[in-house]
Amino acid sequence: MNKVFITGATGQLGKLTIDFLLQKGIAANEISALARSAEKAEELKAKGINIKIGDYDNYDSLTAAFKGVEKLLLISSSEMTKSRAVQHINAINAAKECGVKHIIYTGYMRKAEDPNSPLWFLVKDHIDTEKHLKESGINYTLFENGYYLDMLMDFIGQNILETKTIFVPAKNGKINFVLRADIAEGLANVVTTNGHENKSYNIGSEKAVSFYEVAQMITDITETPIQYVSPEPEVYVKTLIQHGVPETWANVFSAFAVAFADNIMNIDTSDLSNILGRKPTSVNEFLKNTLNKK
Ligand code: NDP
Repeated sequence: MNKVFITGATGQLGKLTIDFLLQKGIAANEISALARSAEKAEELKAKGINIKIGDYDNYDSLTAAFKGVEKLLLISSSEMTKSRAVQHINAINAAKECGVKHIIYTGYMRKAEDPNSPLWFLVKDHIDTEKHLKESGINYTLFENGYYLDMLMDFIGQNILETKTIFVPAKNGKINFVLRADIAEGLANVVTTNGHENKSYNIGSEKAVSFYEVAQMITDITETPIQYVSPEPEVYVKTLIQHGVPETWANVFSAFAVAFADNIMNIDTSDLSNILGRKPTSVNEFLKNTLNKK
């Protein structure tokens, strides 16, 4: 019998989660993982993980993979060109057909569910998936993840100490940033302990922060004065494109920033602290580690 099955296992969050499961003493042969190709799964196979080849778009591959599984960690799809809800619902239906008892799903933190939000294209897939999961009758645990702290530098610029300016149209909105590794450790804890059935967790650091605060933190850490400028979104998109960012991505960055300005992820939470038994990495700690390396 497979003890734990993890999808998205070849991705960054999946790999980290598997490493935490192994660190917790779960034997590699008790972990199974979905991969889209044998080639992508080589690293996991070398660790002794059972590899099942499958794809969210291929229902039969999922029912073949999930046979005998009790606990499924369903990491949300990264495909932006198709309906991720359809992919996740395929996985949930396949899990139900196979008698899976518990699904842990990685969703997205949100303060409101507003169809007019610029991030609706992203949030809607999670809402639809979570609704389907709850209606499936399978025990669920929802990880509503904050914005990856690992990606903060992409927003403010890797060369922030040269530009000395954070240029993002997020106004004074606050964002809950959370390190992937902390989410992964939290997932491993939830997978290996009881009492998480039918619970929804906001997975983030304890305090949401604004880009004003980020600018101040960098100023204090590096003794380099950093200013924060919140331009109009149109000016932001144009500026990114002028700096070589493809238009599609410039618009995605802008959609996030405008949603941040609306405080969609302005949530303080101790859910992840409780799951980890310690405080998750704060933005200040992350910036210290990252900027002191430069
Ligand atoms: P990655 O892009 O590193 O990993 C995504 C994983 O999903 C990969 O294993 C990928 O497989 C798999 N996948 C994609 N499409 C399919 C498919 N059709 N069938 C089966 N598997 C598929 O993302 P992360 O690990 O960093 O993050 C995990 C998820 O979190 C993302 O997929 C996304 O939904 C979400 N996310 C959250 C963010 C946040 O700030 N909270 C930011 C970015 C993403 P393969 O290796 O074959 O490509």
